[in-house]
Amino acid sequence: MKDLLCDQFQNTVSEMLLCHRSILEILSKMQESGVRVQRSVVQSVTSCGCQKIVANKKTLPEDASFFDLKTLMDSHLSGNLCPSCRETIECEIGRSLFYMAALCNLLDLNLYDIFIKEHKQLELLREYNLT
Ligand SMILES: [Zn+2]
Repeated sequence: MKDLLCDQFQNTVSEMLLCHRSILEILSKMQESGVRVQRSVVQSVTSCGCQKIVANKKTLPEDASFFDLKTLMDSHLSGNLCPSCRETIECEIGRSLFYMAALCNLLDLNLYDIFIKEHKQLELLREYNLT
């Protein structure tokens, strides 16, 4: 049984794209929306300042295990998103999902099936890394 919310989203995207169904337009809009996601994150640092990027070279012990890496590696982010930046980033990610669903529609792919396939892949990788 397919996930209804995911399928409904994909169907709604399909209805919205009746006039703009060109693969060329969808591919370029997908790329543009990805850039807008990145830009909204950067602006939370450079325009708003609710987050900072604090990065430096990490020296990892040679005998570090997979578990150690999780604690030794960091996001290089400091601070928390303010409500305004959170809203902007969520909108941009939503727009990106819209074009991802549109691409799936044009290629007759099911977004939910892709989520499931990717999730299974991640679970396999996690099991491999934990053994
Ligand atoms: Zn902010």
